[in-house]
Amino acid sequence: MIRLVRPLELTSSDLIYPIFVRQDGKSFEISSMKGQNYLSLEGSVKVCQETAELGIPAVMVYGVLQSKDSDGSVALEKGNFHAKIFKKLRKEFNDDLVLISNVCLCDYTAEEYCVYTSEKGKVLNERTAEMLGKIAVVHAEAGADVIAPAAMCDGQVRHIRSALDEAGFEDVSVMSYVKTDSVLFQPYFEAMTVSDTPRRSVDSSKFRSDIINEKMFMQKVDLDVGEGADMVIVKPALTNLDLILRVKQRYPAIPIAAYQVSGEYAMMKMLCKQSHMDEKTLFIETLSSIKRAGADMILTYYALEAAKLLTERKQRIA
Ligand SMILES: [Zn+2]
Repeated sequence: MIRLVRPLELTSSDLIYPIFVRQDGKSFEISSMKGQNYLSLEGSVKVCQETAELGIPAVMVYGVLQSKDSDGSVALEKGNFHAKIFKKLRKEFNDDLVLISNVCLCDYTAEEYCVYTSEKGKVLNERTAEMLGKIAVVHAEAGADVIAPAAMCDGQVRHIRSALDEAGFEDVSVMSYVKTDSVLFQPYFEAMTVSDTPRRSVDSSKFRSDIINEKMFMQKVDLDVGEGADMVIVKPALTNLDLILRVKQRYPAIPIAAYQVSGEYAMMKMLCKQSHMDEKTLFIETLSSIKRAGADMILTYYALEAAKLLTERKQRIA
């Protein structure tokens, strides 16, 4: 009866699995996100195979470079690592897996800032957005289906959309992140940083939305949708369930993704390790709450485990 009256069902088709592919080819556990591993390029093919077989439709690709440079131009070099990843995965999986590309300057610049800044620390929106557009074209050429700009600077969606269209990639979608400022991103920063010093960041309040200010968040969403975003990612999920619903209500025709971020994942991992709480029950409960809030897609580090569990349950019922 419970199943019969359910208006929604969480399935593996709702999930997107984020993967970290290392240029140095080393594969080991990510210390800030226990249970998740860095992958070599070859290793990523294996994991993507498993992802596709579990019925998960998409992966979010993070490339971890060996070295970065002052202006991030390493992103545009011929034979650059990110292009290699997309070429490889596109060739292996053809249409069986949607490849989403995270596009942000911090993946390429030595200072690991998400945006370019002036000497006085002012965010240079136009310059940043123009560069993001160039990176997007490189990834689309290599085989990315979706570009996910993460810098949250004004104009990024507009620049990326027009750069893609001009290069003939009208069918490549733009899925923009809209984030509230959050300490829950920290394990991800630790996973992505290549420098020995902890990652600094430009005063994040300049571009991430104030957690308590729903109007500011919706303004960012309006801006991105107005600039041509095809999809929106609300991030983090746990602290923004109400915002997922608001975005859904304001833009019923636009697919909404929610990102259960690294800190949410690490929190649950640690809690279950330290207590007798059942991890599977916990991640299904949280993912279900995100879906109920209105997310059409959920990015989660639990994607593989959740898909396995959901498939087993379905088989048991059948
Ligand atoms: Zn960034």
